[in-house]
Amino acid sequence: MKILENIVCSFCGSLCDDIALGVEYNAISKVRGGCAISRRRFLGPIDREVPRIDGEEAGFDEALDAAVEILAKARHPLIYGLSSTSSEAQAAAVKLGETLGASVDSTSSVCHGPGTVAKQLVGLPTCTLGEVKNRADVVVFWGCNPVEAHPRHFSRYSVQAKGLHIEEGRRNRKVIVADVRKTATARIADIFLQVAPNEDFQVLTALRAVIGGAELEGEAFGGISREEIRTTCNVLQNADYGVFFFGMGLTMTQGTHYNVRQALSLVRDLNEKTAFAVIPMRGHGNVAGAETVLVWQTGYPFGINFSRGYPRYNPGEFTVTDLLSRREVDAALIVASDPAATLPARAASFLSEIPTIVIDPYYSATAKLARVFLPSAPVGVASSGTVYRMDQVPLPLKKVIDSKYPSDHDILLAIDRGVTACSASKGALSMIL
Ligand code: SF4
Repeated sequence: MKILENIVCSFCGSLCDDIALGVEYNAISKVRGGCAISRRRFLGPIDREVPRIDGEEAGFDEALDAAVEILAKARHPLIYGLSSTSSEAQAAAVKLGETLGASVDSTSSVCHGPGTVAKQLVGLPTCTLGEVKNRADVVVFWGCNPVEAHPRHFSRYSVQAKGLHIEEGRRNRKVIVADVRKTATARIADIFLQVAPNEDFQVLTALRAVIGGAELEGEAFGGISREEIRTTCNVLQNADYGVFFFGMGLTMTQGTHYNVRQALSLVRDLNEKTAFAVIPMRGHGNVAGAETVLVWQTGYPFGINFSRGYPRYNPGEFTVTDLLSRREVDAALIVASDPAATLPARAASFLSEIPTIVIDPYYSATAKLARVFLPSAPVGVASSGTVYRMDQVPLPLKKVIDSKYPSDHDILLAIDRGVTACSASKGALSMIL
């Protein structure tokens, strides 16, 4: 058995890079260091799926040709997903989007997109997870539950991690959790703020007011008493180095980007008194990479449209839920995500009414309703690439075993070549005619 060290797990935004794998006969048989989710991911079978057209088994090249034909004919195609694949594949998807004049959107638009909009308004005083581990003596988790969603976040980076100035881990840290219910993360908190549903904005505003020196009038704010607000502010402003993590409990509840704008403003205010940073608690392994790649390729993070030959950005117009609910696309290419299982029913059901192509190592709910399914080599297992951790640190993924299928990146490049060849031959034909 060959032992491979320092492998990156790309399942969640923590991207733990200390996994050891035992590999024999082109199969992973041992995982050391990962959490239960990561063990399932590495030990799960690959290459179990087959290419399909209209649900029927097909050859890979035949399915690829069918995908090219659909996209070459489409007038308003959508490319969506991208959060669980490599940054190389994300860049290839943008290139294909430009070739097609398509809308390109990532799962960001249905998770942390509002946080990104708020970042464009306020800025993001941020830091790396290394700084959290080595310096942070106050850690806030707002609307996120890392105990269940990022199982090794506490031990590697935040609550229990020992670091340069945090020699005793948990004992050197104060933990504040804000959520609408007592989650597993809330159970370990020193201060738990049980916020009334959809009233995060009120609580954050009250915190900002007290930090700014105002006297609060009233007894409670968004379900939090005046006394709890004062105590929380004392802990926040007496931190040597504080870090504020926020999740979808803040970005996707009523108020969306206004909530995050208030949270980022609170962190900005705290920097008048001490050092404080903020990190979005990104879920999917490379959703941070999707935004980064789209920004460097187009200038915009998600919700982009190329129909005029140059990128335009408009969340609410070119974002997946809006395009599908308004039935404004005539074909969809879904890469490494499962919108049929996650989008509102009205948007998801439209995917079965238009020709949909899915590129994914797994036969997802979306793959089941797709016209064409192209299985791919799972990234970080049977294909290599780059991924971005939630703090924007890029990490390399290694290919550890072989797959009989190409990577998402190679499939996207092949589709792009096919579509370009189709338009060239159409152009030549129209010149002859
Ligand atoms: S915490 Fe996330 S990145 Fe780390 S091993 Fe578990 S699933 Fe993988």
